[in-house]
Amino acid sequence: MKTKEQIEALRKELREHNYNYYVLDNPIISDFDFDMKLKALQELEQKYPEFYDPSSPTLRVGGAVTKNFETVVHEHRMYSLDNSYSKEDLEDWEKRIQRILGDVQVEFVCELKYDGASISLTYENGELQRAVTRGDGFQGDLVTTNIKTINSIPLKLKGDYPPKFDIRGEIILTLDGFAKMNQERLDNGEEPYMNPRNTASGSLKLQDSALVAKRPLECLLYSVVGASGLETQFEVLEKTRQWGFKVPPVSKLVKSINEVVQFIAYWDVHRHDLPYETDGVVIKVNNLQQQEELGYTAKAPRWAMAYKFKAEQVSTVLNEITYQVGRTGAITPVANLEPVLLAGTTVKRASLHNADQIAKLDVREGDTVFVEKGGEIIPKIIAVDFTKRSRNSEPTIYISHCPECGTELLRKEGEAQHFCPNDMGCPPQITGRIQHFISRKAMDIEGLGGETVELLFKEGLIANYADLYTLTVAQITPLERMAEKSAENLVNGVAASKNIPFERVLFGLGIRYVGETVAKKLAKAYKNIDALMAASQESLVAVDEIGERIAESVVQFFREEKNRTIIERLKSYGLRFSLSEEQLQNQSDALKGQTFVVSGVFETIGRTELKKLIEDNGGKVASSVSSKTTYLVAGDKMGPSKRSKAENLGVAIISEKEFLAMLA
Ligand code: AMP
Ligand code: ZN
Repeated sequence: MKTKEQIEALRKELREHNYNYYVLDNPIISDFDFDMKLKALQELEQKYPEFYDPSSPTLRVGGAVTKNFETVVHEHRMYSLDNSYSKEDLEDWEKRIQRILGDVQVEFVCELKYDGASISLTYENGELQRAVTRGDGFQGDLVTTNIKTINSIPLKLKGDYPPKFDIRGEIILTLDGFAKMNQERLDNGEEPYMNPRNTASGSLKLQDSALVAKRPLECLLYSVVGASGLETQFEVLEKTRQWGFKVPPVSKLVKSINEVVQFIAYWDVHRHDLPYETDGVVIKVNNLQQQEELGYTAKAPRWAMAYKFKAEQVSTVLNEITYQVGRTGAITPVANLEPVLLAGTTVKRASLHNADQIAKLDVREGDTVFVEKGGEIIPKIIAVDFTKRSRNSEPTIYISHCPECGTELLRKEGEAQHFCPNDMGCPPQITGRIQHFISRKAMDIEGLGGETVELLFKEGLIANYADLYTLTVAQITPLERMAEKSAENLVNGVAASKNIPFERVLFGLGIRYVGETVAKKLAKAYKNIDALMAASQESLVAVDEIGERIAESVVQFFREEKNRTIIERLKSYGLRFSLSEEQLQNQSDALKGQTFVVSGVFETIGRTELKKLIEDNGGKVASSVSSKTTYLVAGDKMGPSKRSKAENLGVAIISEKEFLAMLA
């Protein structure tokens, strides 16, 4: 097969797998096979840049950075929707419609109102041309690069699509995806995001598209503008589904407002079974000809109406505000509520986030408060019912000392949360760190759970994670609920963890901001703990994707004597503190401290391979030439702007041969 055909065949196949996986939720090959095929395509594309295609599935992984998003005018304005709250509102709307259209049959399509950020996508000849946020409805931000990373958005269409049209939809995060993102943040010692909607919306404006690619965003589509040949809204939904878009199947074609009301009643309850958030129903006149006759008011179409679900809100009494201390010492205020039923579950606690939030709401113990459940793991308090506040209520005074150890709390400049600085003496911080250390993604110690850690700590058997390795069966067996068998399991589980690879041990240490991915980067860059412990702030920042904040945290962690002592102990027990032989193969420090930009096509080596060589030998790969660039490795067909920039900045330009010679 000719290369071009081979590339095209791979693209087509990957596109289909993408569609099966992300649109139909029905993959037919394994993730591994998919990744292998994607890699194969990436390599071919790098080797043969002449077959570049802006809608190639390889562009999903992102990488391009946008400093300022360009503002563009919508070819077709993005309108808002009028709201209704009752059956009467809907009947009034129907009357207005009949007055304009006369005595004709009007059908409606009922859809759910997806709660995310609206987007308008322009397709020309079946290819995604641009993606624009709603903005003020007249003009929005051009976010095409970020949008291309969202897997459920087709870059190339299937079937009999019109030559040019705009399609509109909502960018959302599923509740599941959102919860996972937050769990990861908590694992890294970061504050969780507030809700899926704002997080989805914020994602569109991230400068680094590679970060967008990592978020589990989806796009649900609901309307087409500027296309001919379509007759009804219901047909639009069916057709767009055939073209490859993700169009939720819950929409329904109905003949009367009575049926609309039934649809609303059903989904008001069952929306909680959906994997994403909805905040209402959108009812649209089905016939597009009728839509056109009805037209628009100054702000909304006359042919559509939103019905807002009643917010999932209840009021209850706040009995007490308590304060939780996390593993990093961060304090979270919690509202303890008079138990109340909300969205199908009994709610007893709600998050108050931080001191500012308490001050903003002016929430006090004894208040009656409104509680709402969104995508958060725990519900939140949205307001105080001031009509019910008692006369002698006192403003909340935020705690000044740690509720667990009594140490005076601190608050860092620019951070919302207070924290307890007594990291070595504050019980929940101590047990929190050990719990993190044994967790699945870190040391994954079998036979040991969070509660047992607390028990062992309370009994004075452990005070840090190194102590785990000296525990004996004889020590554990006398403890409550610990039979000999479970004691043995525990000790065996601890011993087995000595084989966990370096990067996971590093993650398990619980250095603030060093999550799973960062731990991997650091392990790869420094190869063993001694090198990492000796690393300066500047050296750390020179590692790809390591910023000031992480670097500072790492340096500070290793500067502390107590941490160094614990690491020495862990070493003596035989934990892995360096990359394995296998991981080390072909790695060196030959290019340490040097930053490379790779451009063009090479004769003896693929671009991916070349970049890997740089990284394996301790160098850093950057995407654009700057004063920090040490070398520009120039291949055939290198971009002229890169060359002139390098020349202007005095960056050395080397050939592929010269580069390989550096490693020889
Ligand atoms: P609003 O922001 O309350 O004026 O509501 C209008 C917004 O609802 C639109 O801009 C869309 O982003 C969003 N929306 C969500 N689901 C739908 C849907 N099925 N049909 C139309 N608009 C929807
Ligand atoms: Zn404390």
